[in-house]
Formats: sequence, C-alpha cells, structure tokens
Amino acid sequence: MRIFDAHCDVLYQMWLDPTIEFADSPKLHITYKRLKEIGGKVQCFAIYIPEQVRPESRFEVALEMIDIFYKRVLAPSPLLKFVRTRDDINALKDNEIGAMLTLEGCDAIDNSLIKLSTLIRLGVSSVGLTWNYANFVADGILEERGGGLSTFGKDVVRELNRSYLWTDVSHLSIQGFWDVMELADFPIASHSNSFTICKNRRNLQDEQIYALINKNGMIGINLYPPFLSTRPKITISDMLKHLDYICSLGGEYHVGFGSDFDGFSETAKGMENYSCYEVIIDSLLKHYSENQVSRFLYKNFLEHIPR
Ligand SMILES: [Zn+2]
Repeated sequence: MRIFDAHCDVLYQMWLDPTIEFADSPKLHITYKRLKEIGGKVQCFAIYIPEQVRPESRFEVALEMIDIFYKRVLAPSPLLKFVRTRDDINALKDNEIGAMLTLEGCDAIDNSLIKLSTLIRLGVSSVGLTWNYANFVADGILEERGGGLSTFGKDVVRELNRSYLWTDVSHLSIQGFWDVMELADFPIASHSNSFTICKNRRNLQDEQIYALINKNGMIGINLYPPFLSTRPKITISDMLKHLDYICSLGGEYHVGFGSDFDGFSETAKGMENYSCYEVIIDSLLKHYSENQVSRFLYKNFLEHIPR
C-alpha cells in the first residue's frame, strides 16, 4: 500500500547533525531505506526554524535546510524524486518516491513577500503560517495573546491561493485558524489530531475539524504521543481513535497522516519509526475496507493537492 506522509522533521535533524546520512541513519525515524521498504510514495520534508535561531539568521537557516533537502536527501537517493504537483506524483515510476518540500512556520520570511516567493521558487509546496509562537503572520497556539492573522498574514494567504499552495494551520492560534478559514482556498492541518480525543492545545476542536471538511481541506494524523493521549502507555489503538473520530465527524475523505517523525524523540510503543506504517495499515484493515485504508494512507492527501 502506498503512503503519503504530510509532515516530518528530517531536515531539522540533519541540520542539527551534519554527520547524519538520510540513507539509513539510526538517528532518524524516516530514512531512504525505510521509505523504500515500507511503501513510502510521497514524503513531505518540513523546513523548521528552531526558536533559538536569531531573527536575522532565520531566512539563511531556511536556505540551509533547503540545501540539505537537495544535497543530502535527494541527491544520494536515486529513487527519491522532487515533486510539487499531482502530475509530478502521478508521473513517478512504480519504484520511485516523491519528496515534497514544506515550510513549518513563516518565521523565516519576516514581513517579506519576496522571501516567501523565493522559498516557493526554491520548491516549497505547502506553507505553515506559524510554529507555536508569534511571528509577522499570526500568533501560534502557545502565544498567550491568541491573535489572528496580521494584515501581512492575510497577504501571505492570498499569495498561497494565487500560487495554488496549501495553507497549513497546524500550530496556529484559534483566531488565526478562523481567519484562515475565511481566506484560504487550500487549507490543511498537516499534523494535528482531535482535541475531543486528546485534550492538547495543538489538537483540533470539533468545530475546526468540521470547518476543514467544509473547506475541502485535509487533516494529517500526528504520531507524537502527547497529541495522541494523556494516558501514560500509548499504542496504535490510541491513534486509531483519532482517525475513527475524524471519520465520525464526516472526515473520511479528509483525513490522512502527517507523522511528525523526527520532530520528537519519545515515541509511542509500536510507532517507533516509519516502519510502523506496516502495522498501522494492518490494524486499519481490520476496521476499514482496503479502499478506505488506501484513502487514509495516500489518496486523500494526493487528491487534495491544489495543483
Ligand atoms: Zn510541528
């Protein structure tokens, strides 16, 4: 079965440690070897600027991560191909895997649309507006002020609409989320779960899930344990609860996976790295038809690519 994973932090790990090789590093959850073995078909690679990077260096760090994407992820992996559109993905040969470049938070672009367009020209296909805190675009979910989109943030969303790119609301404040719902043509939450199932502020409330479904958006299930359950021992069945619940709200055609692998170190039992997709697929097949499972794992995200 094919797998579309809408979010990982491989580039961040490789930026932190220049010795990591994407081929088969034991320090990574997602590697070239695992993608090939398990059936990876499209993997999104996020550019994430860590909080400790000084504002004046953030754009440069984004460029460094893009350089890592091309030099250390794509170049040494002959079957991994850069993709941005549905046509690119449909043109992949059976044994080829697509790699999409995404931006996690607009902290790197300051208040500059030129910096945004530059990142898009360099290959960014999906733009998360914030990480957890405030930037020129909006407030993140942990910013106490809880502000929505700035005037500049609205320009950013309009630019994403014009360019046929996803506007990613994962990490965004509640007010920012509703501002995006008014403006964005292609909203997604690439790596967010259900707040009703697990009361973590990073998760989506029912009204938010309904709104994403109504806007023909997508929700990617996140495998980070604290977003799955507040209980101590977390397993695949906790993850299934989020998927079942989003489906029960009408999201069967709007749910996929955004694992967040390599964005955290404490993994849940049975979901230690990318290979767990094999077990996830097996457990999903006990509850859903093969066609439904292939929607969750791959087709839903593929069909929602805006261009
Ligand atoms: Zn994230």
